[in-house]
Amino acid sequence: MDINFAAPAEFVELAAKTKAFVIDKVIPYENDPRWTSHGPTDELRIELNTLAKEAGVFAPHVSKEYGGRALNQVGRALVFEAAGYSILGPMAVHCASPDEGNIHLLDHVARPDQREHFLKRMATGQIRSIFCMTEPDGAGSDPSMMTTTARLDGNEWVINGRKWLITGAEGAGCAIIMAKNEGGPMDGHATMFLADLPDPTIRIERTLDTMDSSFTGGHGVLEIKDLRLPADSVLGEVGKGFRYAQVRLAPARLSHCMRWLGSAVRAQDIAADYARTRVAFGKKLGEHEGVSFMLADNLMDMHGARLAILHTAWLLDQGDRAANESSMAKVICSEAYFRVADRCMQILGGLGITRDTVVERFFRDARAFRIYDGPSEVHRWALGARVVAGKIA
Ligand SMILES: Cc1cc2nc3c(=O)[nH]c(=O)nc-3n(C[C@H](O)[C@H](O)[C@H](O)COP(=O)(O)OP(=O)(O)OC[C@H]3O[C@@H](n4cnc5c(N)ncnc54)[C@H](O)[C@@H]3O)c2cc1C
Repeated sequence: MDINFAAPAEFVELAAKTKAFVIDKVIPYENDPRWTSHGPTDELRIELNTLAKEAGVFAPHVSKEYGGRALNQVGRALVFEAAGYSILGPMAVHCASPDEGNIHLLDHVARPDQREHFLKRMATGQIRSIFCMTEPDGAGSDPSMMTTTARLDGNEWVINGRKWLITGAEGAGCAIIMAKNEGGPMDGHATMFLADLPDPTIRIERTLDTMDSSFTGGHGVLEIKDLRLPADSVLGEVGKGFRYAQVRLAPARLSHCMRWLGSAVRAQDIAADYARTRVAFGKKLGEHEGVSFMLADNLMDMHGARLAILHTAWLLDQGDRAANESSMAKVICSEAYFRVADRCMQILGGLGITRDTVVERFFRDARAFRIYDGPSEVHRWALGARVVAGKIA
């Protein structure tokens, strides 16, 4: 295996600066009432974005033309982990999902006028964006089941369908919508469209009540009824929607891993502090092997996760698609994070399930991470099929 992912000093320094920012400026907001069950409000997001700009840690991954540092994937691995030390951190430094993945996609596929109108405002945090693929009765684990349609009518596309679990829907300023072409030479192929929001033909039926609470705008159910978009609203080329989804998904699922690794580190710090001070049966909890072994298992889970992230990041930086590695990293990291959050709750005893620490919140978010960006079973199924077909040794 060919690996060399030594990180430049510049990235290491930025990661340290980002972590210091999260500890000093972001963590104090963790009890802010504007962090609701449907995520932090836009008011809170904008306030934290302003602090991140002042601290010089805002949006380091975006391209230099929009004020970022155009971090490569290895750089992101370090900085996003640092941001993830608080759930509010990625939102504060503007590397949270779905914007981060959407920015990456537009940076690769959008035309100059689309960059100016959409990407510029997304990258600078002026608007939030959503990615609309999943459907209640169609696309899910299997996107080819998409039922949302796009039909060309003269110089306009007419789009109809329902989407759900759409992160950030409430308050978003633009949408990337995936739909299947109806008629024309690309009949049955998926296309991506860019739309300004709000739009009266894209109605938020409701915001779902979910276990997780880290994404601004919650997760919405959208009805798209006769949305009319100009012919040039297509992102990239007609019929290449699934291909572009791959451009977005591999790095986007890896950046979830990076951010949540930061949360695992924080949960471990909280649990270790407790184990160092709380006494039971005449000694510190951490002196009981049953507890210290849990801390050791956490350490090993986080180490494995970090190596999987760095290797995949490095491969992506070499221009490799890293399809297998990003699938493996997604499963390794989401499952490791869930175990770490669970063990930390256990070490904290009754305190662990209260909101007196953030570990309880990490645990709820960790559960959702095993489902979005491909459930574990779908990644295992795809990897296993490639092994059986002799495509992966
Ligand atoms: C918090 C959260 C945020 C999300 N944000 C977005 C978003 O912004 N935009 C968007 O478009 N979507 C979003 N999603 C949707 C997400 O991508 C889907 O939930 C995911 O792709 C799974 O689809 P599904 O929920 O329809 O599950 P289903 O397709 O109904 O699958 C259910 C279960 O079946 C099993 N399964 C499926 N296929 C296989 C297989 N081949 N082998 C073995 N088992 C299998 C898995 O265990 C899976 O969990 C979000 C989801 C969550 C939970």
